[in-house]
Formats: sequence, structure tokens, C-alpha cells
Amino acid sequence: MVYQSGFNCNAGTIQAVVGKGDLIVSDELNHASIIDGSRLSRADKTIYKHSDMDSLEEVLRTNRDKYKNILVITDGVFSMDGDVANLPGIVELAEKFEAMTYVDDAHGSGVLGENGRGTVDHFNMHGRIDFSIGTLSKAIGVIGGYVAGSDTMKEWLSHRGRPILFSTSLPPAAVGAIIEAFKILNETTEYTDKLWSNAKFFKEKLGKLGFNTGHSQTPITPVIIGDESKTMEFSRKLMERVFSLRELYSRQFQCAQEE
Ligand SMILES: *Cc1c(COP(=O)(O)O)cnc(C)c1O
Repeated sequence: MVYQSGFNCNAGTIQAVVGKGDLIVSDELNHASIIDGSRLSRADKTIYKHSDMDSLEEVLRTNRDKYKNILVITDGVFSMDGDVANLPGIVELAEKFEAMTYVDDAHGSGVLGENGRGTVDHFNMHGRIDFSIGTLSKAIGVIGGYVAGSDTMKEWLSHRGRPILFSTSLPPAAVGAIIEAFKILNETTEYTDKLWSNAKFFKEKLGKLGFNTGHSQTPITPVIIGDESKTMEFSRKLMERVFSLRELYSRQFQCAQEE
């Protein structure tokens, strides 16, 4: 099911599949749109420590009998730090405690797995995740979001997914571009390979310069400055460089035109 954005997809899907009397179990570092979708659902919410399977097991064990449905939600690739979720561990626990699983793969699709099929493919967990979410605005380079799952889910969301029902869907030009992007991803690994080699290059050079780029396992590259005011200063200086480069280029462009 395709939504107008990844944000809309989380907001619309979570509220459609759980409600009062259900529990959402969320990794503490999940994306803001998951948090908003959870609020809209009116289900109870609890978090487990980031990627900590002991913490998840503890939460599931203590809550299993108190709720009808439990939905475990995680980012596939965490959007701030670039680390990958422990999907095998999460699925094992979810199956043990009969909970549903929901993976937001906004940063995994088009990046990880065979031809960019995402985190679920990377761990070979096909058919064991109830809701696989991705965005069409990051690696795909257009706009929109999607959730992949069972036929029942699809049928349900066509009646209960509020952004699908009450908001205009993607324009044909966007859909055309999305289909083309998927075709390209299927035909060649040139772009995903290039992405990984660019990321490796970038991380290596930043490391050599002494920057702390955390423990990312993906092309997401955090640069951890640490101190808040220093971070703002760093950001401001980078912007200055962007502006002076832009000025330089436009001056060169003018000179070239005059010639
Ligand atoms: C970017 C992002 C979204 C939102 O996707 P959009 O298509 O930009 O709305 C949702 N979830 C995660 C984890 C993201 O990183």
C-alpha cells in the first residue's frame, strides 16, 4: 500500500492496526513518525532499550497477558546513528510471545540486501515480518511511502488507512519515476555499490581527520561533535563554506558566460 510519504505511512498504518487494549513496544530510538503514529492509535506504549534483546524480552514477558495485541516496532536502519536493527533477535522474541512485527526500513530499502531489497532481505527474514515499511523519497529519490504485508493487511488498510482514504494519492509522474527507479535497482547494482564505496571513502577520510563517526554500519554517517554549542558553531561554519563555494561557482559561471 502506497502513501503520500513515509511519515504518512507510519502515521496511517500504526493507528489502523492497533488501538485501545493493545500495546506498542518500540525501540527507544525509533523515528518521530512512528511516535506520532503510536500516539494516534490510542494503544498503550512502552519502549525497550535501544537494540537490547534482554530489555525487549523483559517488556514482552511482563506485558503479554495484559494485552490483546502487541506490536513490536523498530527502524530497520536507525536514522540518526546508522546501525542496523537485530531483526533475527526481534522476530524470534515476537514469535515466542505471539507479537506482531513492524519494521520501518526508510534507510535500509535501496541500500541493504540484494539489489537494495532492504534489511528484511539482508537478514533473510522474508515472510516473518508483518509490516515492512519503506520510503520512496530517500534511496528511490522521488516521494511517497509504502507498507508491504499480507493480503488481509492490504484489504484492511484500503478501508482503515486514513491518509489513503482521505488524502490525494501520488501524482502519475511521481509513480512513473518510482517505477523507473525500482527497475534500475533491479537491473544493476552499480548505484548501490557506488553508494557503499562513497560511504566507505567518506568515513575513512573523516576518521583520518580525527572525527568521531560513531558505530554506523550503513552509509548514514553521524559526525559526533559532542558539545551542543560547538555543534552549532560547526554547522554554521559548514554553511559558510557552502555559501562561499556557491559564490565562487556562480562567479566562475559568469566569467565563462562573458567569454
Ligand atoms: C525519513 C524517515 C521517514 C519519513 O519518510 P518520508 O518519506 O520523508 O516522509 C520515516 N521513517 C524513518 C525511519 C525515516 O528515516
